[in-house]
Amino acid sequence: METISKRLERIREKIADAALRSGRNPDDVEIVGVTKTVPTDRVATAVAAGLRILGGNYIQESLEKIDALSSLDVSWHFIGRLQSNKAKFAVMHFDLIHSVGTDKLAAEINRQAAKQNKVQPILIQVNAGQEATKAGVLPNDALPLVKSISQLENINIRGLMTMPPYFDDPERARPFFRAMNDFKKRIEDKTIANISMNTLSMGMTGDFEAAVEEGATLVRIGTAIFGERS
Ligand SMILES: *Cc1c(COP(=O)(O)O)cnc(C)c1O
Repeated sequence: METISKRLERIREKIADAALRSGRNPDDVEIVGVTKTVPTDRVATAVAAGLRILGGNYIQESLEKIDALSSLDVSWHFIGRLQSNKAKFAVMHFDLIHSVGTDKLAAEINRQAAKQNKVQPILIQVNAGQEATKAGVLPNDALPLVKSISQLENINIRGLMTMPPYFDDPERARPFFRAMNDFKKRIEDKTIANISMNTLSMGMTGDFEAAVEEGATLVRIGTAIFGERS
């Protein structure tokens, strides 16, 4: 089996190629290594190979890994469904929360962040394919949500996250990525106070090259780094 280091190297090459194909700077795209179900020693191997951002889907599982890897210089991002009663831990341990799709969750993150004297960076998760099984705000409701969350003092919106419908052919995900980038620009044009739109979190193992070509700045990759999840 190929080593984690080799896999990361190949992913970086593909990201760089995709960025260059679309006239972008490869340095503007970072990898979030998705750690769900991955044994901690394998995560540590990836960090030793240069991975700098780790993504967690579940609070409890992530806290164990954060603790075990606390000596490493990494940034943790929360990318999973966040229940309001776990917001406290997300604020405590994660530099970016990708998955905010409701006013209710934002209000609780804001409350916990105020208590912790922190301004919490977040992304607005958009349910681009309007799928019943997926989290995130529906595209038509996204702008009002951005506006209302932008007024919370202890939250800073940094951009958008999306997970398009699953297709075997990544070309079919491309229109969703493009729509998200267009939407990001539309929000930028509105110059809403207290937000920035620098971050676009989209693309996973099966479709990250199309996502980079369409403007992703964070790609969330699990399987291509760590192998199939059991
Ligand atoms: C699991 C997961 C990923 C990574 O998926 P892979 O196909 O293994 O790269 C990315 N984003 C989210 C939100 C996930 O839950």
